[in-house]
Amino acid sequence: TLSGKTAIITGSNSGIGLGIAREIARAGAAVVLNSFTDRKEDHALAAEIAQEFGVEARYIKADMSKGAECRDLIEQAGGCDILVNNAGIQHVAPIDEFPVDKWDAIIAINMNSAFHTIAAALPHMRKRGWGRVVNIASAHGLTASPFKAAYVAAKHGVVGMTKTVALETAEEPITCNAICPGYVLTPLVEAQIPDTMEKYNMGREEVIKKVMLERQPSREFATVEQLGGTTVFLCSDAAAQITGTTISVDGGWTAL
Ligand code: NAD
Repeated sequence: TLSGKTAIITGSNSGIGLGIAREIARAGAAVVLNSFTDRKEDHALAAEIAQEFGVEARYIKADMSKGAECRDLIEQAGGCDILVNNAGIQHVAPIDEFPVDKWDAIIAINMNSAFHTIAAALPHMRKRGWGRVVNIASAHGLTASPFKAAYVAAKHGVVGMTKTVALETAEEPITCNAICPGYVLTPLVEAQIPDTMEKYNMGREEVIKKVMLERQPSREFATVEQLGGTTVFLCSDAAAQITGTTISVDGGWTAL
């Protein structure tokens, strides 16, 4: 189990990040939840996890689009043994119409934040003599789709950064890997449905089966629990020699 360890999960007040935080807590680690808001509900999520799993849990506000706040999150938490870089946003547009502010925000939140958190967390992991970095990339870290230039660029960047960090920590008891989910039904995906319905002139169910899950041969969404379980596996002793690689949880997407 992971008792005695502390995990920081960025972007974890909903979706995959929250699912991962819950599975890490189930495995016995203390968890630090994060997002850029500071609402009662955010802190309540941590309290629920603490109660359900009998672990320490807290919520720390930090905006992952800002490098200084990324680093400050790690320091405020007092460092960590497990760092899960999960915060992410999406915007869909042809590259010649892609809003510059959206491009900058996606690169900052989906990619640069991992640079800052890893840079701040590694010294703590070295002091503790153990560390696990898990970056939540995407099938779009390995393949592309039209209209997602910023997201695909950021996620490919995260996969590249993962390999480099693994090489820099290769002789230490620290690993760094990326998980590449296919489609998982979360608020981020939910938000893409109306645009996609309009683009393809289709209804909701048709968009889900024919467009979204078109490239996911299983024709099923992956679940946040499955991503949490994969993260816990990467933190286990069985995974100690797994570093610098990607694990796809995509129903066969990248096998096509
Ligand atoms: P989500 O919208 O439910 O969660 C995104 C999380 O990031 C939220 O907790 C949000 O508050 C947080 N966040 C956004 N901007 C932030 C900021 N500036 N600072 C701090 N936190 C911020 O979406 P999700 O689907 O759970 O996505 C989580 C990760 O998984 C993302 O990196 C996404 O790219 C990746 N992913 C998702 C899917 C999918 O199908 N849902 C597939 C592949 C990869």
